[in-house]
Amino acid sequence: MIKLEGYKILKKIGSGGMGDVYLAEHEKLKKKVAIKSLHKNLVSDIDFRKRFEKEAQTHATLDHSNIVKLLDYRERKDGLFLIMEYVDGKQLDEHIKKVTGPMPEKELTTLFAQILDAIGYAHKKGLVHRDIKPSNIMIDKEGRIKVLDFGIAKMQEEEKGLTKTGVQIGTAIYMSPEQVNADKLDKLSDIYSLGVTLFYMAVGKSPYDGETNTFSIQTKIVSDPFPKASSLYPGVEKRLEKIIKKATQKKKKDRYQSCKDFNNDLYPILISNRKN
Ligand code: ADP
Ligand code: MG
Repeated sequence: MIKLEGYKILKKIGSGGMGDVYLAEHEKLKKKVAIKSLHKNLVSDIDFRKRFEKEAQTHATLDHSNIVKLLDYRERKDGLFLIMEYVDGKQLDEHIKKVTGPMPEKELTTLFAQILDAIGYAHKKGLVHRDIKPSNIMIDKEGRIKVLDFGIAKMQEEEKGLTKTGVQIGTAIYMSPEQVNADKLDKLSDIYSLGVTLFYMAVGKSPYDGETNTFSIQTKIVSDPFPKASSLYPGVEKRLEKIIKKATQKKKKDRYQSCKDFNNDLYPILISNRKN
């Protein structure tokens, strides 16, 4: 377990590519927080520390109810710590796996509208998330969306080098064709990953379900037509399938050009489900 002045560490709640995440409590305020502690091997690299600080500063500028807030940042010789708002809830992928399966349109549109709002807000500030996927999206106890890992994504990408084989399957599935090709990324790459996320919500499975080879997934992303949602789950309505298709076009110019455009097509489905 880690130690951090001013905080009581309660338990480990997650671990990922760059470090571990702990549930902790501010000793004076008695407020729960989540602390991300970076892996030791990353901490000793001075260049990495500098870039990480910059990313933390970027994350700190984000103030949106559907984006996890960065509350504080601590640097020590032996560690780097991000102190974040604690989300009491579940990851979107767990929620789908354990609770809903393919998500009914009403719940899907209500949640996805919040995701689009969060990412659209970041895009307006000139930021690209780069690692949008269901495990980086949480739903709290009130049913509110909280997007995780802002800022971190870029660092992760630089550390791993996308062309190397170290990319995890869970991440590979949500990568845009240009991301697989290690091209420069802009917000349209996020639009693609949002489209794959929407596919997962509607179908209850990823488009490359059962694939265990990262390289083969990456080849499919670049070369094969994107899988049809209704062929994996016939319950997906045509109008939703059309939206997924548009977001996941291989050519950037054929996709939605903004989260707002994306939302404009989703909105009628949201409204029609509210009426019923
Ligand atoms: P990865 O590198 O695999 O994306 P993360 O570092 O994002 O992993 O975090 C691992 C897990 O820890 C998350 O998927 C989530 O379940 C949990 N977690 C991260 N941040 C928070 C937070 N602010 N509140 C609650 N849980 C969190
Ligand atoms: Mg994550």
